[in-house]
Amino acid sequence: MVSRVIPVDPFDLVIFGGTGDLARRKILPGLFRRFCSGQMPAEARIIGAARSDLDADGYRTMVADAIAEFGGKTLAECGQLPAFLEALDYVMIDARGDQGWAELKTKIRANVITAYYFSVGPGLFGDIAKRLNSWDIADADSRIVVEKPFGRDLASAKELNASLAAEFDETQIYRIDHYLGKETVQNLMAIRFGNLLFEPLWNAQYIDHIQISVAESVGVGGRGAYYDKSGAMRDMVQNHLMQLLCLIAMEPPSKFDPDAVRDEKLKVIRALQPVAPHEMVRGQYGPDGDDPSYREDAGDARSFTESYVALKTQIANWRWSGVPFYLRTGKRLKARTSEIAVVFKELPHSIFEESGDQTQNVLAIQLQPNEGITLDVTIKEPGPGGMRLAHVPLDMTFAETLGDDAEEAPDAYERLIMDVIRGNQTLFMRGDEVEAAWAWTDPIIESWVDRHDVPKVYEPGSTGPEDALALLHRDGRKWRDLAP
Ligand code: NAP
Repeated sequence: MVSRVIPVDPFDLVIFGGTGDLARRKILPGLFRRFCSGQMPAEARIIGAARSDLDADGYRTMVADAIAEFGGKTLAECGQLPAFLEALDYVMIDARGDQGWAELKTKIRANVITAYYFSVGPGLFGDIAKRLNSWDIADADSRIVVEKPFGRDLASAKELNASLAAEFDETQIYRIDHYLGKETVQNLMAIRFGNLLFEPLWNAQYIDHIQISVAESVGVGGRGAYYDKSGAMRDMVQNHLMQLLCLIAMEPPSKFDPDAVRDEKLKVIRALQPVAPHEMVRGQYGPDGDDPSYREDAGDARSFTESYVALKTQIANWRWSGVPFYLRTGKRLKARTSEIAVVFKELPHSIFEESGDQTQNVLAIQLQPNEGITLDVTIKEPGPGGMRLAHVPLDMTFAETLGDDAEEAPDAYERLIMDVIRGNQTLFMRGDEVEAAWAWTDPIIESWVDRHDVPKVYEPGSTGPEDALALLHRDGRKWRDLAP
């Protein structure tokens, strides 16, 4: 297949927090890859903005180092680093003061798209939004991009939304959930809504249950003190797992348009049932030889924050009535893997005598480490010897058909940034979606606090606490293997 890269229009992108970890690891290497692919036009400008005492050349050196460290093989093959660095500029700015804003204003060009990426802690979102307007830097066509975490509960999310809404229209606000930028997540929508095949089966009559697993093999490490203030429910379930659940469960939107898609996602979140105490399990990883336990990593020997959570929820509507959605995520588990599995019901009757293990069809959407979609189907084992059945995964990503295009698919961040420039909000969370997600999450977290729930200790390198296995066993089901 021939690659089709359509350049975006010229833009000025200001990265507040342009010296930070996220900018160096993801945003800038991602932009460089878009530059190499020809999607970022030569007229585009990227302006780093932070308090660090740098000039434009100092910033270019910092970015070149970041690309060397995090840019992967693109750097070696592209040969366009000097041209990319030319597109960079830097402003020393204080988000909470007056320094740098007048200078930033002089650097923003008229007649190009302007986007402001808030790659800073959420405590600065309101300050930056306010100053962009009071210094008359942004206009009605400007876009702002905000990072997670978007609040730590419903009240703080509302506050953040209000501080942004006071300065910008919702159509200008791009709330990033990088899971939505993954190729496979978008492919999931193509498979669901671009084929007739699945829709008739996509309901409680044919689907037994759905599992969403996001497992990490590493612990919280140096981020322990920060992580301890959130935990797996706030850090992963409220945003990433919730977004994946929405895409699996939503009704077909009338068109592939930002609000049509987001309206349907919102309906799913609002139809989510509360989770009863016996339907959730929390855990903390224990020590592993010399490796510290969660509590040691968090620096709090009495921490009650979970590094693992598993739960069962249901969606109260006609399509999903009675279909359990099992969600789990955790750190220091057996493997680093993220998967959505749609497990279909068993055959009502098998006509084959030697059918082997009765398996169910499973549509498995793998998000990491390798992106891909497989459909487990039953076929005849090839060759003579009668009718023996085999169960094989059918590759639905067709990496071979797509060839290099599949391999060089953009990373989630760069894809989302290009969507910001194109003005396409489909893969970004709307304010009401985020609030609805917190409205579902808050009572769960509050119930843990009220009950003084103590997370179960689990063995590092395992699949999580034993109780999480029981969550499915009770229903006559089991978790899928956490295979990378
Ligand atoms: P970080 O490494 O601490 O960087 C923060 C940035 O903000 C730095 O560039 C810092 O630069 C700048 N900054 C801080 N105070 C400032 C002020 N008063 N005025 C202007 N600039 C200021 O944080 P990060 O890891 O990059 O994270 C940034 C955001 O992305 C956070 O909201 C985080 O939750 C989110 N996020 C990060 C990741 C990740 O992998 N890192 C993943 C998902 C979401 P100076 O010190 O030079 O001012």
